[in-house]
Amino acid sequence: MPVLVMKFGGTSVANLDRIRRAAKRVGVEVAKGYDVIVIVSAMSGKTNELVGWVNETSPLFDAREYDAVVSSGENVTAGLMALTLQEMDVPARSWQGWQVPVKTTSAHSQARIEDISPDNITAKFNEGMRVAVVAGFQGISPEGRITTLGRGGSDTTAVAFAAAFGAERCDIYTDVDGVYTTDPRVSAKARKLDKIAFEEMLELASLGAKVLQTRSVELAMRYKVRLRVLSSFEEQSDEAGTLVCDEEEIMESNVVAGVAFSRDEAKMTLISVADRPGIASIIFGCLSDAGVNVDMIVQNISEEGRTDMTFSLPTDQVGRAEKALGELKSSGGLNFSDLDTELDVAKVSVVGIGMRSQSGVAAKMFKVLSDEGINIKVITTSEIKISVLIDRKYMELAVQALHDAFELEKAA
Ligand code: ADP
Ligand code: ASP
Ligand code: MG
Repeated sequence: MPVLVMKFGGTSVANLDRIRRAAKRVGVEVAKGYDVIVIVSAMSGKTNELVGWVNETSPLFDAREYDAVVSSGENVTAGLMALTLQEMDVPARSWQGWQVPVKTTSAHSQARIEDISPDNITAKFNEGMRVAVVAGFQGISPEGRITTLGRGGSDTTAVAFAAAFGAERCDIYTDVDGVYTTDPRVSAKARKLDKIAFEEMLELASLGAKVLQTRSVELAMRYKVRLRVLSSFEEQSDEAGTLVCDEEEIMESNVVAGVAFSRDEAKMTLISVADRPGIASIIFGCLSDAGVNVDMIVQNISEEGRTDMTFSLPTDQVGRAEKALGELKSSGGLNFSDLDTELDVAKVSVVGIGMRSQSGVAAKMFKVLSDEGINIKVITTSEIKISVLIDRKYMELAVQALHDAFELEKAA
């Protein structure tokens, strides 16, 4: 039988009523003749609560134990979803990551899926089971410990299952009815896109649009998974939501496809480091060893052989970065006079494959921000995106002004 993957995010399984509603939707697909793999998130708010408990217990936690705690939310919803389906006379069984197994790297708290063996689940489908409910977000390391895939990781579980089972489609059910030109919570003028190219979705996701986890888009692009984002709260037709697809499938598109933002950014500056070969390698090697994900980097103008090095990183990694750089300094590995940390910055980005062939997008973006009196702290660009780091208090304003200026409320 053809296989369909349906993923339900936290708000779609937030309570028993919503689980029932999601289960009914699964029942509809089963009735059409599909074997369904349902991927569930934890109930909304649950993972945040678990992460909070871990941080309160141990601020620089052992990531193996973080995973042991934080993966548990999905176990509850997987079991409840299977029970709900059974109550509806749909033959269903739940699976935790290790039972499938979903084999991952041992990079705890941000593991990557390496392999999913379809055999166990396929054998059950052959025996008449119609729905496999799989706990999203989790897997098992080569050492046999539970891992998690990073926040939002159930999206990646879903796409990886769709690839492993050759599913006809991977439907991501969430609390918005598709991918928008920007987060509809920040701009009332955000417009739903019927289709978006993999490359654009990849950039939007990695720049903060959490509607899909970045890695899920990467996998969908690599394995040619038909990926659709749609609402679990509305009646759905087969064309509902947003299809993430190859750019060749899209006839017309705006130069800028969307505006993304990331609120949880911090900026650190190492004051007065030596300006000589090897210094950047020492700094960023040390941060990488400490598990810090550095994003934007600028080296300031050098004076008398000394320079300042600025970089951005997720706010929740500042503690680790300070500790690692402090130890590097005290061990004599790096000389600097001060470490300056700004916690209230945000990153705002415009994304679009049209930028490959049209110039002037950066100039326009900087003009818009300047007209709003917003100071740019750091800039980075790639072929299809421009990102700026600004004061967090101006983030919403910047997003709305850019959305207006690039006329994203209008279709191409
Ligand atoms: P789930 O729990 O279903 O995984 P998430 O909260 O992870 O849901 O993702 C959905 C949210 O992503 C939406 O509620 C919306 O606020 C946010 N979002 C950010 N950027 C976008 C965008 N460009 N289009 C749609 N939603 C977006
Ligand atoms: N529950 C996890 C999280 O909140 C994974 C997910 O929902 O995708 O990050
Ligand atoms: Mg999500």
